[in-house]
Amino acid sequence: MNQATISKDIQLNGVGLHTGVEVSLTLRPAPEDTGYVFVRTDLDNFEIPASVEYISHCSYATTLMRRGVVLSTCEHLLSALRGSGVDNCFIELDNIEIPIMDGSSEDFVDLLTAVGTLEQNAPRRFFRVLKTVEFEENGRRMSIEPSDKYEIDCVIDFSHPFINRQAYHFVFENGSFGEQIASARTFGFTHEIEMLRKANLALGGSLHNAIVLTPDGMLNESPLRFGDEFVRHKILDIIGDFALLGMPVLGKITAERSGHAVHAALMSKILKTEDAWEIVEAVR
Ligand SMILES: [Zn+2]
Repeated sequence: MNQATISKDIQLNGVGLHTGVEVSLTLRPAPEDTGYVFVRTDLDNFEIPASVEYISHCSYATTLMRRGVVLSTCEHLLSALRGSGVDNCFIELDNIEIPIMDGSSEDFVDLLTAVGTLEQNAPRRFFRVLKTVEFEENGRRMSIEPSDKYEIDCVIDFSHPFINRQAYHFVFENGSFGEQIASARTFGFTHEIEMLRKANLALGGSLHNAIVLTPDGMLNESPLRFGDEFVRHKILDIIGDFALLGMPVLGKITAERSGHAVHAALMSKILKTEDAWEIVEAVR
């Protein structure tokens, strides 16, 4: 089990969910031990590594910042890269925000599958959890504990007839991300969207890139992709945020009503707990 990169460049265009700006994105192969590195081609190729240390804020999406340069809404693309078994990749973009595509990771995964991965010479490294670490705040709870696989147990609870309580247990295996998680779309509520628009957010949001819920139904005319699409999208977000640890996890994440801020808090807590994790290399 060696590290992998993409076998050739991938180019795509889209619009940012929150900024509404057009962005051109190119994924390029990267050498061993690079991880994921964002490159702002509009700012002299300024690099922002996808790392917990650069998380700047995470209210409605995960935003990174290095020396004042911002990179917004990275989670769905990082989820697709991690979910497709890519360890190393340069992500070039000419604006501030990763394109939202259809609100899921499906387009990214389709493009990654089409070009395929290239096995590299260095063994794959894992972030292995040695001890349970928990974070809890205002009824939101998340923990990470030892496991010989990467697995996620997630529960969400929204008082809406389409959601209520949804639970899902996801195990990372060959192809499982593409089949179970990648196409689950982001969602929002009409009352929340008015508030976001007033704050100059969700400017690129539409029924083409989100499930928009009204108090008793949804605005989208096409059906949900899964009955439990909402909890599957939460898992998509968790995988994308935890990609900021820089390598795949060997551990079990349990999340109850979590969100980007809770993900970030748990990651920094485990990183600070030195005896709770180690980096291991795959046995060849
Ligand atoms: Zn999301």
